[in-house]
Amino acid sequence: RTFKSLGVCDQLVEACESLGWKTPSKIQVEAIPHALEGRDVIGLAQTGSGKTGAFALPIIQALLEKPQPFFACILSPTRELAIQISQQFEALGSSIGVKCSVLVGGVDMMAQAISLAKRPHIIVGTPGRLLDHLSNTKGFSLRMLKYLVLDEADRLLNMDFEKAIDDILKAIPRERRTYLFSATMTKKVGKLQRACLKNPVKIEA
Ligand code: AMP
Repeated sequence: RTFKSLGVCDQLVEACESLGWKTPSKIQVEAIPHALEGRDVIGLAQTGSGKTGAFALPIIQALLEKPQPFFACILSPTRELAIQISQQFEALGSSIGVKCSVLVGGVDMMAQAISLAKRPHIIVGTPGRLLDHLSNTKGFSLRMLKYLVLDEADRLLNMDFEKAIDDILKAIPRERRTYLFSATMTKKVGKLQRACLKNPVKIEA
């Protein structure tokens, strides 16, 4: 299998090659064709499986077709993971000029607000801090959002982000694509899935 055979465009195939990604990982093989067809996706996958590429490539490819600010939002349980996700988006999107903002706790709100004022394509954040900006940062909204990713959903729910996620869902369009990735399928993850995804394809790494 090659990235090209999954439907990835030439520009992004080149980006993968420049990162040393020669062949797609299992989760990428399973997820990318469905995501490119416009389906919602639930992926059972651990860190290290290449799950970030599995959602980042289809999102960047859609962004290339119709560039706009605040195109996608990725919710992460931790700041470390949020930073890693934004680094992968920027690495894959570097030749295309993909801009990200990272919204995590423990960092100055004002610095993040300045980054939001530059109208990035991709927002990666922990739910609490993202919600804080949605409530308090003038001019920032996710009303035009096209893609939502719930990454490490089991950990998001273990960390008591349920209320924040609920509030974020109220602030984004229902008409969107949603990807949910989780290492485990728990009752709570099932409930979140039913609240957020439409007729999803289920895949496993
Ligand atoms: P992730 O599971 O998304 O956290 O990715 C784990 C690591 O694998 C990251 O350092 C990625 O850069 C790398 N990676 C992702 N996809 C591939 C691939 N198809 N081939 C080689 N490395 C990859």
